[in-house]
Amino acid sequence: GKVLLEVNNLKKYFEMTNGFFGREKTVLKAVDDVSLYIKKGETLGLVGESGCGKTTIGRTIIKLYEATDGRIIFDGKDITHLSQTEMLPYRKRMQMIFQDPYASLNSRMTVGDIIGEPLDIHDIARGQERKEIIQELLRKVGLNSEHANRYPHEFSGGQRQRIGIARALAVQPEFIICDEPISALDVSIQAQVVNLLEDLQNDLGLTYLFIAHDLSMVKHISNRVGVMYLGKLAELTSSRELYKRPLHPYTKALLSAIPVPDPKTADRKQRIILEGDVPSPMNPPSGCRFRTRCLYAEAICGETVPELREVASGHWVACHLVHKIN
Ligand code: SF4
Repeated sequence: GKVLLEVNNLKKYFEMTNGFFGREKTVLKAVDDVSLYIKKGETLGLVGESGCGKTTIGRTIIKLYEATDGRIIFDGKDITHLSQTEMLPYRKRMQMIFQDPYASLNSRMTVGDIIGEPLDIHDIARGQERKEIIQELLRKVGLNSEHANRYPHEFSGGQRQRIGIARALAVQPEFIICDEPISALDVSIQAQVVNLLEDLQNDLGLTYLFIAHDLSMVKHISNRVGVMYLGKLAELTSSRELYKRPLHPYTKALLSAIPVPDPKTADRKQRIILEGDVPSPMNPPSGCRFRTRCLYAEAICGETVPELREVASGHWVACHLVHKIN
């Protein structure tokens, strides 16, 4: 398929001041040289612990943040440095849904007005037409069209996420950044929301960037998955390949930590414990950023930053010792 979104050598640095009177300046390299693409109709999962930069990538793509370096190309057009006005038509084509649907919904607005707001902003519909679009959107996400007159607090977490999805769909986007959309939901509800997103993708031909902190959450919805660690991609490949044959030590550790529901049917994988906390992104380890927690680290790992390399067809890994340990 055609590539819808391309991110080339993207960097997003934040300058932080601390110390007495803010004299010390430190640079937080939240996203440090990340390249990826997403094909039309595809879902790319992006996974990593908090502070790995996955959310910053989403926000930089949609231009809530300005990129420090690198390029963002949407449907063949370089949008990296477009002004807010130039960005307006693209805002319609790309939308974002958030982790906490309650915080992202205005509690004093009715559900109808929440969903209708993007219609107003982009001057898409008014009056009766607007009302009908809102009702149709509510039905699309599995809610009752009479819910339009109610307020967010009257709904459960899963229903509120559906409202957030309906709002994102109002402008008929092609691309949706799903920023941890199921992380705050009960496990029993997570699958329902994932199924809804999949159905909508099939019906409307949507393309997703699906961000999560847990590999088990992106497994079923993603065609390909990228694993991030401290601002960099550690591994990127098809979902099937990643779960079958993880090659990066970090991915191996993450996968071994997924709880296995039935020990009788599951294959017996050795559980790898990830020791220690993620180092501060303000002061990441030299060389390979994962080396302080890596079971396999050698001298070279502290000396040189491992590049993301294609080690098998479509399977990209950033590890000096990938051939030795696999
Ligand atoms: Fe571990 Fe070294 Fe590979 Fe980094 S480069 S993941 S420290 S073996």
